[in-house]
Amino acid sequence: FAPWDDPAEKPLIRFQNVTKRFGEFVAIDDLTLDIFEREFFALLGPSGCGKTTMMRMLAGFETATEGRIELAGQDIGHVPPNERAVNMMFQSYALFPHLSVWENIAFGLKRARQGKQEIEARVDEMLKLVRLEKFASRKPHQISGGQRQRVALARSLAKAPKLLLLDEPLGALDKKLRQDTQFELMDIQETTGTTFVIVTHDQEEAMTVASRVAVMDEGRIIQVATPSAIYEHPNSVYVADFIGDVNIIEGKASASGHEEYTLDWADGQRPITATSQKPFSDGQTAHLAIRPEKIRISSDAPTDAPNALQGKVLDIAYLGNLSTYHVELPGGQVIKAQTANTRRIARRDITWEDPVWISWSATAGVMLEQ
Ligand code: ATP
Repeated sequence: FAPWDDPAEKPLIRFQNVTKRFGEFVAIDDLTLDIFEREFFALLGPSGCGKTTMMRMLAGFETATEGRIELAGQDIGHVPPNERAVNMMFQSYALFPHLSVWENIAFGLKRARQGKQEIEARVDEMLKLVRLEKFASRKPHQISGGQRQRVALARSLAKAPKLLLLDEPLGALDKKLRQDTQFELMDIQETTGTTFVIVTHDQEEAMTVASRVAVMDEGRIIQVATPSAIYEHPNSVYVADFIGDVNIIEGKASASGHEEYTLDWADGQRPITATSQKPFSDGQTAHLAIRPEKIRISSDAPTDAPNALQGKVLDIAYLGNLSTYHVELPGGQVIKAQTANTRRIARRDITWEDPVWISWSATAGVMLEQ
């Protein structure tokens, strides 16, 4: 049971029909969105889709051209940045090089004229939160990149904002450290109960850390849902394609049973069978989106699969835990199939140029209108 399923739960952030124009250019287009308390929310989308503009409006660096933005029930349209219970952490961290870790974390508290004892207690608490107690007196150049990232996080959380905005927070870290830090970030978010909104180019990162993800395109939100719902039930080819790897087969649908359809997709090919809870009318164009890991590959014709096609292996990518096969069908379409390499190196028998069968069940894919 997720908090955002609870109708009694109040949204912390509300975008109501928000439009942001820069001159004639529409950066955010009539966007409506609720983000709830304690959520770890991710904004995902290609460069220029408006993610940073959303963050900047929340932080108060930009004002909406039209519409209303609420924080905890209050219209914040004209509240200056320093009077919002919002903080923003930038990729560059912007730590003060001449100040110690301790002083960096204390900086905002001192500026807010909090009492000495209060500041000391809070900084110690923050140091503990990010596990940097031992590094309190070091300067930023005397600690590692990952530690600097944690100092920046501690500093952003010191004043206990209701909302923390994270702009590519792990962008400067290498892959391994980045993955470890993702789990730390999740832990810290959970411990503090602060609402986090993250912008990242790395869709795997968004899927890992976020409780909900909004996929954006050209200033609009195309889908907002949990990572698994976005992956398993994308609402459009755009979202299916943006998140992870996918095969799209376009065809004409016709009903063949309860929530079951056949898809005529290529001349001379057997129609595909697929299920869909969303109805399609006869002759309607449908795009079947199937993830590569839902497609089986075999040397022999499968006996039990409703969808089986013969093709030729174009290439194989061995990824350690997985292998990806590109299989070319007679019509020229290329289908990606992925198998898990459990125990033995899987499908050692299948190699380049081999004729193979690919197969999948009727429920393996999602039928999409567009
Ligand atoms: P990226 O992932 O590259 O950071 P983004 O999704 O964060 O992209 P934004 O920075 O929000 O995108 O920009 C959205 C659009 O608005 C872009 O086309 C950008 O050129 C435009 N834009 C942003 N700020 C301004 C500005 N101050 N003046 C004019 N156009 C702007």
